[in-house]
Parts: sequence; structure tokens; C-alpha cells
Amino acid sequence: MRRAYRRRDCPTGFDEDIARLVVVSARMQPAPLVEQIHLRGIELRWLDLHLRVPHSTASGTATVRPVVLARLITDQSEGWGECAALAAPDYTEEYAAGAWALLCDFLVPALISAARAHGNRFQPEGVEAILSDVRGNPMAKACLEMAALDSMLRAQHRSLADFLGVERDHVEAGTVVGLLEPAQVTDAVERAIEAGYSRVKLKIAPGSDLGVLVTLRERYPDLGLQADANGSFDMRDPGHVRSLENLDHLGLLCLEQPLDPDDLLGHAELAKRIATPVCLDESISSLGRLDEALALGACDVVCIKPARLGGLLKAVTAHERCAARDVPVWCGGMLETALARSANAAIAGLRGFVMPGDIGGGERFNEADPFATTLNGETGGPRVPIHKGPGVGPAPDVRLLDRVTGRSHFVPC
Ligand code: MG
Repeated sequence: MRRAYRRRDCPTGFDEDIARLVVVSARMQPAPLVEQIHLRGIELRWLDLHLRVPHSTASGTATVRPVVLARLITDQSEGWGECAALAAPDYTEEYAAGAWALLCDFLVPALISAARAHGNRFQPEGVEAILSDVRGNPMAKACLEMAALDSMLRAQHRSLADFLGVERDHVEAGTVVGLLEPAQVTDAVERAIEAGYSRVKLKIAPGSDLGVLVTLRERYPDLGLQADANGSFDMRDPGHVRSLENLDHLGLLCLEQPLDPDDLLGHAELAKRIATPVCLDESISSLGRLDEALALGACDVVCIKPARLGGLLKAVTAHERCAARDVPVWCGGMLETALARSANAAIAGLRGFVMPGDIGGGERFNEADPFATTLNGETGGPRVPIHKGPGVGPAPDVRLLDRVTGRSHFVPC
């Protein structure tokens, strides 16, 4: 039966991998982006995209994926950033309409004001400091950081992968099956295996039929199985604890975010009680929170989502901190367009990302993804290509983008 990624029972070769990783990570500090951006203006766009398949988790079911985009217009190029906030504040506190308001009212004016104070110039690495007067809201801030990096990299005709020192052409993706009836789950898993996926993640919740995991393990003893509870279990409920302990013999790759995101002590206690590696996702809302979780032993594995941490540069730092503690990481997804998925794929190419991520996509929306049309290679399946052209991801098909743009907001510099 497949088991992996827990430090204390890691597979042969893992120690050596981690040792190399620490050395490589230490060398792999991204070169500073010394050039400055000469800003002309910032445009925000609101896209209305509809999911082909409703996405059900312990928090609810989503059918619509609003997407907030930022376009930084400079004297040399334009760069795009994507906000990962979902329609409702049920993953983290942020949600798309709130992010739109925050960007319009505070973040874009702050960036414009800072640029004007320096002759319309700023550096992508300075975005975090410029926006620091606004507390929290990492996804809204990450949107502007991505746009700034994208415009800089496009001006330099350089890819994000090159900037990060990533040489791989592809990264491996797993697939995610939402909360469905057991028969639908097994059908979806069969289709995933036929499509070549070696890692399948199932969404779970208290009261959902966890027996389907037992059935799948019996049927597919070598499949990389993972369960994501999205924080829906509670260590104060003996029934919940029993349910989680009953999963412990299944050899799951990891049990993702079993408890409330704020309950780091509960996760630390659970990690001691079960052999299955505990993974934190929603809990890792900042680098400080990551440090706390690692110090408390609240997780054996970390899901890194650049947007949830505040941007791509913080994701690199988070990866390095986990590597320094021998903690494996994987890259999560937020039902994003091919723009953010491309950025995530480059991040997932870093050495410490030793587990398949949620970075696949394919044709996710009823509408055409304006960023997918120019993405080289395949967009679905377990092998996700790393964008090697200029910028963090492919440039949009403007005609398609205009078609799905519901509203826009432009601020000149
Ligand atoms: Mg998750």
C-alpha cells in the first residue's frame, strides 16, 4: 500500500532529496529585479465564468467563478494579475466582490500614489511594502504583485520559471473529486485513473460517506489517495475524532485541513494521534502563520497557495522555510484561469514541491478561458506544462477576454 511523505517514515531516497533541496534552495534565491516599472495606469476587470461541473466542498457548492483581474500598463509592457478570491468567503475571509472593492478603494490608489511619488516608478518587489498599510487580504494584494511581476518579466522577455531557476518543462498534477454520492465518486476516480492521474484527492466532511475511501483503497491499493476536509471536523466532537482515526489505516498521502484553520493546537494534537500525515491548507494564511504551524508540529505537509500567502514571492519564501525543516510541500489551486495556473505551475517546479499539486485545469469553464488559448501544449491531464514564454503566464486573447468581462475600472497614473 502506498504511503509517503511523512518525515518519520519517509521512502528510500527522501532524506537525500531533502538534503539536496536545502542546498539547492539556499542557492536559488531569485535574482533581485533591479529594474523599475514606469507605470501608466492600472485597469481592473471583473469576469463572470461558469464552472462546467459544480465544485462541492464541506463549505458549499460553487457554480460560478467570478474572476478579478488587474492589468498594469507600463511604458514597456503590460502585465496581468489574477485574484484568487472565490465568490463567497467560505474558503478564507476574502471573496471576489470584497477584493474588487478593496482594490478599487485602497490597493490600486496606494500603488498609483506610491508610483507618482517616485516619478511613476516602482519595483515589483516593493509592492508588498506599498500595500502594507492594508491589513490582511493576501489574495487581493497578490493580484497586484502578479501583475507587477508579469509586466516586468514581459519587458525583460523572461519567464517566471527562468526567474525562479526552474528548469523542468512539466510538473505533475493530481485531480480533485468534490463531495458527491459514493457511486459518482468511484466513477470520477475511475475516469481520473484512465486519464493517467496517480493522485486523487477526495473532498470529505462530517456525515459524508467515508466508506467510499475504504472502497477505493481496496480497489486501488497503489493509488495516491488524499482527503481534504476543508476544516470541517472538530477535535471536541468524539464522533469526529473517531471518523478521522478510522481513516488512519488507509495509507492516505495526507489528510488535508481536517480542523478549523485557527485550530493549530488541535492539528498538533491530531498529528500525534494518527500516522497519516496532516497537511495544512487554509491555516497557512501568512508566513508568520506558517512558522507557528511548523513550530507547533501542527502539520507534516504544507499546501502552498501563492495567493493565500500574499503572492508569488512569499510562496518562494514559504517553500524555503518548509525545506529548511524537511517539510514536503505541494501547490494548491483555486479554480483559477490559465494565467494563475501557469504561475502556480512554475512555483510547483521548485525543488521542494515533491507531491503532485492541484494545478491541473483543462476546460474548467463553460466560457473559453481567455488565457488558455495561447498556452503551449496540453491544458488538462496529470502533466502540466510550465510556461516558458515571457511573463508569469500566457498573454490573454483580448477578444475572448472582452467577451467575458462584466465590468472594468481604470485608474491612470
Ligand atoms: Mg484544501
